[in-house]
Amino acid sequence: MKGLPAETDFVVIGAGVAGLRAAIELAAAGRVLVLTKKQISKPHTESGEGGLAAVLSDEDEITLHLQDTINAGDGLCNPTAVKILVEEGTQRIEELIAWAAHNDRGGTRLVFGPETGHSRGRVLHSQGDSTGTEILRVLNAKAHALKHISIAESAFTTSLIGHDGRVTGVSLIDEKGNPHEVACSAVLLATGAMGQIYRNTTNLEAATADGVALAFRAGAEVSDMEFVQFHPTVLYLKKAPRFLLSEALRTEGAHLRNIELDRFLGKYHPLGELAPRDVVARAIVHEMEVSRAKDPFVYLDLTHLSPAKVQKRFPRIYATFMQHNIDITEDLIPVRPAAHFCIGGVRTDLEGKTSVAGLYAAGEVAATGVHGANRLPSNSLLESLVYGARTGRAMREALGLAAKTGAEPKVAYSNGPVDAGAEGLIRQIQELMWNDVGIVRTRVAMQKAIKTLEEMKPKLANPNTRRAHEAANLHLVGLLVARSALAREESRGAHYRIDCPAHDDKKFLKHSVVRGERVVFL
Ligand SMILES: Cc1cc2nc3c(=O)[nH]c(=O)nc-3n(C[C@H](O)[C@H](O)[C@H](O)COP(=O)(O)OP(=O)(O)OC[C@H]3O[C@@H](n4cnc5c(N)ncnc54)[C@H](O)[C@@H]3O)c2cc1C
Repeated sequence: MKGLPAETDFVVIGAGVAGLRAAIELAAAGRVLVLTKKQISKPHTESGEGGLAAVLSDEDEITLHLQDTINAGDGLCNPTAVKILVEEGTQRIEELIAWAAHNDRGGTRLVFGPETGHSRGRVLHSQGDSTGTEILRVLNAKAHALKHISIAESAFTTSLIGHDGRVTGVSLIDEKGNPHEVACSAVLLATGAMGQIYRNTTNLEAATADGVALAFRAGAEVSDMEFVQFHPTVLYLKKAPRFLLSEALRTEGAHLRNIELDRFLGKYHPLGELAPRDVVARAIVHEMEVSRAKDPFVYLDLTHLSPAKVQKRFPRIYATFMQHNIDITEDLIPVRPAAHFCIGGVRTDLEGKTSVAGLYAAGEVAATGVHGANRLPSNSLLESLVYGARTGRAMREALGLAAKTGAEPKVAYSNGPVDAGAEGLIRQIQELMWNDVGIVRTRVAMQKAIKTLEEMKPKLANPNTRRAHEAANLHLVGLLVARSALAREESRGAHYRIDCPAHDDKKFLKHSVVRGERVVFL
């Protein structure tokens, strides 16, 4: 787009599936400015390779999808939020298909793949393992065709502007490094993931927890931050990106082997390779520890599967590995777990409203209670679609409540790509979070992490580059995760503590909510 406006009706921060789907709803009511911190082609939605869960098959039922989601959530799902997800999910996908999404078919019928935790084959794929790319293609085409929507790329939001307890706009740095303010009636946070708080993550570099940090600084409540899902099988090769090996590979028959080449998951769970994500991730951590290897990993093994079937079902994974000279049909793949999905986030109601007027959240950045303490695979693209649309509709009622912002901001930002100081701080935060607030947690380690993070605070004040803003966001959100994890004195879902290995339903069958410095359970 040419030049950023000083004023619009709605600002949507994020152009992944949640942001674009909301923008499409909002365009019916007024002008929508969508901001992305990088190019539009690079949100996480694009990475979705496992698929999209939906009840569209004759052999499936809404109640089964509901129950599978609730089972995965380990006691903490909000049943109303899940009901909305599974019921409206079907409509949202039919709508996508009507907007020309291509899903894999057998003849004219849609193909529903199996997935761990789903009691029926219900996962839709596009071109095998490019589901996220296809959803984005369709939503982008739809959004670009609507004249009320404008999209600004490389527009990095640095803070929310408030007036009389209401969010009335955003401050941002444009692609040239110039500061801007945009006034509006309501702001949607659709900023996605926060995996970069950890040293090992499947998330893109841009997943620096900006949305949670922006909301928390604006006074919004955040919830369930201790529940970080770690994906068990992520490529572990020096100098290669941390490429995710979808659960669907194990569902199609791939095995996990330790460095002695023994299959080990049967020792940890009766479902073996099909055990829940958190169980598999912890089993791998244990196998790596007992191996006493200096640089431990385990192997994912597809060599016993039909090469033709693997290439057809997982073309993107196959091609990506060939670039690293690994033929997944012949070679064992070295893998380790990595941080993957943030279950908690900015606390919202079922219409995406946060605890601050004028501020909404949808998609991975939001905490609706839909995933409880653990997310069922392939439910998050669906969540972003369903709650993106609902939130967009709810935001329309804010139209006309715009407040004018003040004069043009005077602070000059340096926008260079290199900021060695910020980079060093980010590495320190990632290392600390991985070692002390990672897959297996203890009180002592978390207390140590919190103390170190508190001591780092002065170094992160007054950021003046993009990277320094990201460092400050990672630092704040790291603290929110560590404080919430320390406060939950039990193990549940994705949160596992050696010192409190069991559930404590009496005290903790509740959601954690961070209010200022305090963590409360509601
Ligand atoms: C490798 C991988 C594989 C996955 N596979 C699946 C799968 O198979 N099925 C499934 O259901 N889920 C999957 N997920 C999860 C799913 O992709 C995400 O939960 C979902 O895409 C989140 O969508 P979103 O719209 O909330 O955010 P995103 O798609 O991440 O979009 C976030 C947007 O916010 C923008 N943004 C962030 N901060 C700022 C800022 N400060 N200023 C301006 N813009 C900003 C970004 O530029 C981006 O446009 C996967 C995730 C990963 C990482």
